[in-house]
Amino acid sequence: MLNNDVCLWGICCVYLIEIYKSVQGESSFAGRPCIFVRLAGCNLRCSWCDSEYTFSGGYKLAAEEVQAAVAALAPVRLVEFTGGEPMLQAAELVPLMAKMLADGYELMIETSGERPLADVPAQVHKIVDVKCPGSGEGGTFRIENLAALTKRDEVKFVVRDRADYDFAKAFMAEHSLAAKVGAVLLSPAWKKASLPQRSTENCELDPKTLVEWMLQDGLDARLSLQMHKYVWEPQVKGV
Ligand code: SF4
Repeated sequence: MLNNDVCLWGICCVYLIEIYKSVQGESSFAGRPCIFVRLAGCNLRCSWCDSEYTFSGGYKLAAEEVQAAVAALAPVRLVEFTGGEPMLQAAELVPLMAKMLADGYELMIETSGERPLADVPAQVHKIVDVKCPGSGEGGTFRIENLAALTKRDEVKFVVRDRADYDFAKAFMAEHSLAAKVGAVLLSPAWKKASLPQRSTENCELDPKTLVEWMLQDGLDARLSLQMHKYVWEPQVKGV
């Protein structure tokens, strides 16, 4: 999977896990109806990852078939490309995003920022998940990607503990992040072994504690809870 065979006979294909519509759970787009195009494969292994089912498998679809599958979920016009790490398939994904923008879709991409982002069309809202130390993947964000971020884009930090919070705060200050992007999001990490109930007890870091830290510092950031995990039971996939 994810070899050089994604373009066969001039037909560009992507490896997919699923396409579905749901409520957008994160970012300043939270709460809006959204179509999720979840691509297969990830080159990171975050300790709190809730998408391990994307690491292998998947099926191949031509770009036109992806567009048709998205069109079948009309009238929703907000589409997020996610994964896994969607930018592992940049050669196929970037032209697909350009076509869908031309068709009038509003596009988002959720990415770790480990792959270059300069080629992502400027109209696509990039939600960049800069990894904190507690993820086990700290230091993977490609710092030159900051030059590709604008007020259309958002940076997210998944925070597990005080060390992660301090990392996020220092990163924000060092790179004047609040002035550079549309929003900085702090999201409490979700427990791997979560309760079946919809509860903040499933967060590794109590959101209340995170908010207290943000208030103490007057941090120019937003608390971001994964809204879909409170609308549906946490273990439900494809919602
Ligand atoms: S980058 Fe995303 S999909 Fe990949 S391991 Fe981390 S949380 Fe999971």
